[in-house]
Order: sequence, then C-alpha cells, then structure tokens
Amino acid sequence: MYVKGVGPARAEVLETKGLRTVGDLLAYAPFRYEDRSNVKAISTLAPGEMATVLARIHTATTLRMGRFAKRPGGMFEAVLVDDSGGRLVAKWFNGSFLSNILVPGMTLAVYGRIDTEGPLNRLVMLHPEFEILREDEDENDAGLHTGRIVPIYEAIGKISTKVLRQLTSRALETTEIPPDPLPEHIRAQLGLCGLREALREIHFPAAGSDMRAWNASRSPAHFRLIFEEFFWLECGLAFKRAQARKAEGIRFELNDQIREKLKMMLPFKPTGAQKRVLKEIAGDMVEAQPMNRLLQGDVGSGKTLVAAEAAVIAIENGYQCVLLAPTEILAAQHHHAFKKLFAKVGYTVILLTGSQGAKEKATLKRMIAAGGAKMIIGTHAVLTENVEFDKLGLAIVDEQHRFGVMQRLKLFEKGVHPDVLVMTATPIPRTLALTIYGDLDTSVIDEMPPGRMPIVTMHVNEGQVGKAWKLVREQLQEGRQAYVVYPVIEEAETVSMKAAQKMHEHLSQVEFPDFRVGLLHGKLRTEEKERVMDEFQRGEVDILVSTTVIEVGVDVPNATVMVIEHAERFGLAQLHQLRGRVGRGAAQSYCVLVAGSLGETAQERVKTMVESNDGFQIAETDLRLRGPGEFFGTKQSGLPALRIANIIRDREILEMARGEAQSFIASPPSEEERKRALEYIRDNWQRRYGLVQVG
Ligand code: ADP
Ligand code: MG
Repeated sequence: MYVKGVGPARAEVLETKGLRTVGDLLAYAPFRYEDRSNVKAISTLAPGEMATVLARIHTATTLRMGRFAKRPGGMFEAVLVDDSGGRLVAKWFNGSFLSNILVPGMTLAVYGRIDTEGPLNRLVMLHPEFEILREDEDENDAGLHTGRIVPIYEAIGKISTKVLRQLTSRALETTEIPPDPLPEHIRAQLGLCGLREALREIHFPAAGSDMRAWNASRSPAHFRLIFEEFFWLECGLAFKRAQARKAEGIRFELNDQIREKLKMMLPFKPTGAQKRVLKEIAGDMVEAQPMNRLLQGDVGSGKTLVAAEAAVIAIENGYQCVLLAPTEILAAQHHHAFKKLFAKVGYTVILLTGSQGAKEKATLKRMIAAGGAKMIIGTHAVLTENVEFDKLGLAIVDEQHRFGVMQRLKLFEKGVHPDVLVMTATPIPRTLALTIYGDLDTSVIDEMPPGRMPIVTMHVNEGQVGKAWKLVREQLQEGRQAYVVYPVIEEAETVSMKAAQKMHEHLSQVEFPDFRVGLLHGKLRTEEKERVMDEFQRGEVDILVSTTVIEVGVDVPNATVMVIEHAERFGLAQLHQLRGRVGRGAAQSYCVLVAGSLGETAQERVKTMVESNDGFQIAETDLRLRGPGEFFGTKQSGLPALRIANIIRDREILEMARGEAQSFIASPPSEEERKRALEYIRDNWQRRYGLVQVG
C-alpha cells in the first residue's frame, strides 16, 4: 500500500482487517459521522442531548477515595473547558489507565450524552467517545479533524480513527482513482454518482450534507458503493451459473423400469412437496447440463427420502452416487438410513470416514474404484483422500450449514461434471438464499410428513427442573424415549463432557434408576458413539444424555421429549435444529428449555422457541438478533465478506443489483463491455470472494 504514513508496521496492522491495497483502505467506510463544523459551545449544552464538544483539558484526576477505593481502576475525571467559559466534566469508571493518555493542555473532541449532577448541576458526560485533536496548544491542526463533518472509523488495532482519517485523506489526494468500473448505462439509468465522487463523499461529506442520510448509510455515496458491491457479486454468480449451464453433463434416463424401482424403494407415500421437488430434480437430471440444485427443507421435512430417490435414478443409469455429510455421526446416520432404504433394491452402500483405519479405507476405495460400491456415504474424507470413482454421476452434499462454496466446487471437479444436489436445513429468507447459493437452482420442501403435530415447547428455570423430569417420566412410561442435551462450551469441551457425565450419573442413579440412561459426548471414540446411537435407535436406551453431537441429524421417531440444559447458551438456529430431533413421529412431542437468568437476547431466543415451530420465522428472528455475519458464520457458509453493503440492512439494494446484474449478463450492451466486466470480476472479485473459475 503506497500511502504516506503507512510503513511496514502499520501495513501489518491494516492487513488484519484485510486492507492490503489503497482500494481496500478507501473501501473501509466510516461507521458514523460527526458534524464538527458547528460544534456546540459548552455554555449552550442542554442535559439529555447527544453532543460533540471540542475542548481543552483543564485538569485531570483519578479518584480512588470513598466508594471508588475498592474499584480496581478508580474513576478518571477530566474537566474540559472551551472559549465559551463553560465547564464539562468527562468521566470514566475504571478509567485510571487514561491518566497516561489524557493530560491537561490537550485538545479533545468528545462525543456522548450530556447529563447534570450534584447540587450545582455540573455538566457531565459519562464514558464519552473521545479523540485527541492536539497534544499541546502550539500544535497546528490541519483542519482535517475539526471544522467539518468528520468520519469516525472503527479503530484497527492501534490505528485510531484519527490516523485512519489522515491516511484516507492522503490516499484520496495522492492516489489515482481508477476509472469507474460500473457500466455507464447502468450508472446513468439509476442516477448513481461516479466512483471518485462516491469515495470522497463517503469519507468526507461536503459541508451541509444531511447527516441523517450519512449516518443511516443512505447517502448517494453509500447507495452507489453498496449497489456496486452487490452488483459485482451478483454478476459473478450469474457468470458462474451461465457457465455451469454450458458444461456438458450426464443425460440420465428416467424410464418406466426406473420408476418401478423408485416405487419399490419407497417406504411410505411421499408428501406432495416431496413429489414436487423430486420432479424438479429429475427434470434436471435428464437434461444434458449438469444439475446444480439446492434442496431446502426444515428439519424433519424428509429430505433424505428425496435424496434417495435421486440416487436411485443415478444408480439405475449405471452411475455411482456419493453423499457428503458434515460430521462422522451424521455420515453414520445416513449410512444406516440408506442401507435400510436400499435393502429392497439391492445396492451396495458403503461408509467412508476419516477415522477408519488405513487398511479398511484402502479396501473401501478399491470397491469405489471398481464400481461395486454404488452408494458412497462419507465425510470430508471423500474430498481429501484421493478417492477415485469408477463412474460418479450424482453428488449429494448435506450441508447443514457447514460446507462452503469451495468444497462444493472441489467436489465438482472430481467427476466428469456429475449432477450436484445440496441439501440444507437452514431456512434462509429467499433474497439471502439467492445470494449465498446464487449459483444454484432451488427446490423447497414446504410441507411436513403427515400426522406431525407441532412440538410443545416450554421454558423452566433451573430451580424447576423437576417439572422436566416429571414430563420425561410420563413419556417413558408410555414407552417413549428422551434426549437430555448439554451445550458444548467451545473452549472447554472437557467441562461440558463432565457436566454431561454428572447428569448421566444423577439421572441414572437418582431420577431414573428404573430406566436405561445412555451417554454421548464428543470425546468418545467413533465406534463408541455409534454403539450408543445404535442402542438408542433400537430402543435399548431410554434416555440419551448428550452434548450437542446429536444436533446434526439423529432420526429416532420414538423419541418424544427433549430437555435442553443451559438453553441460554445456544443460538436460535441450533435450538431449532436440536428440537427437530423430536416430533418425528405421529405422537405429541415436547421440548423443555432449562435456562436460568436470561439476558435480553437470550430471553427473546427462548420466547421465540416457545412461540414458534416455523423454521423460517425463527431464522428471521435469528438474523435480526445476531446480524448476518454471525448468522451465516461467513467462513463456513461461503458467504462473501462484504465491505460496505450489509445483506440485511440493504436487502432492497441487493434485489435491485441482482436484477441489473442478471440483465447485464444476459444481454450486455456490447461484447467489449462484457469482457471488461469479466476482467474486473476476475481481478477484483476472486481474491475476496473465492469465485473460482469465473469466465
Ligand atoms: P430431514 O429433512 O430433516 O433430513 P428426514 O429425511 O430425516 O428429515 O425425515 C424425517 C422423518 O420423517 C424420518 O423419520 C422419515 O423417515 C420421515 N418421513 C420422511 N418422509 C416421509 C413421508 N412422506 N411420510 C412419512 N414419514 C416420512
Ligand atoms: Mg436429514
């Protein structure tokens, strides 16, 4: 990065936020603006208002007396004065560390809420945000930080907002801003400002700008840059999609004989939704172009059956089918399910996972290469272990939120363009699904298998856990089974394991000595896990105490009650996934959330769970509570890391950009424009978004 003031040390710090080039720096938008062009004089401040004040530190003290004596940090107070003759006290609890930073004589900009205190009604600001403008009175202020609307950036490590402002300003002055990459006709049509203007305005709004628009990320500059970011993302996806359409894939046949086989395999009558999505999938499979389809359906909606049907079509055509699962337990579950489903049609179903011995793996791989194994279920191991297929025709990825775009592509490279079906249980609002899975066609199972009753969910305090055990006992006496789930604490798996072990002991000896209680946690060996799961599946274990390993997809319809301990530690999506393990049969099922004192969001999560069984509604709330970054877990989902745009806040702009991108790709104004766009995406987009093989 060639900007005066950025040496190797700062460059390294900037890199931690992914800022490598001047372009990256300029794309680092302020999160807020302050109008310092006409700041308030202290003497005119009124209690209750939010204000920016420019003032000099008159005195500074750290209080360690009285009730502050016991506080480790003490209280730091700075008395601020300005030319108006007023005094404002800025206060920080536990702020003694500031005594080395804020010293008398300095000029500060402080921002915060004005309050009054004491009999004299002194004006105070508690924990204001501050910026040191001048270290001493002689220093010269460049006019960058005051007397105008100033951008406030999130500091990057030790690089403060003030330094970022300086660097950005220099970059804008000295760097050649490249020509505007947005196609001219789109810019004109939507009345978007040019790139240069947008970059300048987003950092340094002109005097008199409407601050509300800027602070709401809705200035013309914001709009343009957000639109642009979405536009290129959607163009990249549209290119990819167009390209995948052109590739030569397998043209599967679907004749009466195969239809017979499908009927023979079915253990029950498919729901209307299952029939519809199978039709969509089969429609893709008989076309020459490779299928690239997302199968979305809430937990328990019956995706497995549809996947099995697609597999039958591929296998009857003489091809192999691979199914990838995110965890070993889930792979084992699928293995179990598919062996059962395919018993009548006589396909060889094998399981390949990372934890198998070398010898066993070698044997399995030989079976795959020779073509004897028709249905291969596996974890990532299948991707990483150089498995050679004899004739791979269909790849099914059970995504469950964990596989990213990259892995899907890797799989794609394995065969000669096999058809790809991605299954996900994460209900994602449509716009967002289009962006994350924008290169995929979508099928949705929006109907539950017949006879399902909504799960009754309730919340009890830790002190009322007896109620939960009473319910469990009632269910067990009716011959049902139960789950008791513990959260895994990321950094301390041992702790959660111990909690689960203790509960296992308590339940088996105190609460339910007359029933069989099993224990499942992450530290068990794979065979051990499988054994416990098998026992539960066969009904030999009545209560399964578990850390969240069952989250990923256990299917035991006889289990009708789930008790979730420390429910406040789970995210909404996770709670919904977990709860989906009960309510899989026709009997009424229950879920008890045990949670003690709740923070505000935890309370809302629990409330949402108690009130709703609808995955989409829960996902919407989850998104709102957590924000998109955390919701999707960018790294795992393959969701691009957006710089200025926000997928939730800017949904409408996303829709607009998507429309524009699609018509641009479908009918660019000229071949030259198309090429230019393609090159732009190649150069700029792939590095950040991992859109490999565009164009
Ligand atoms: P998911 O979509 O979560 O993968 P599954 O495929 O595991 O759901 O199906 C959930 C449960 O519903 C399983 O026990 C499955 O056997 C059952 N099921 C699926 N489809 C039907 C159907 N059409 N009729 C009755 N039960 C079904
Ligand atoms: Mg499933």
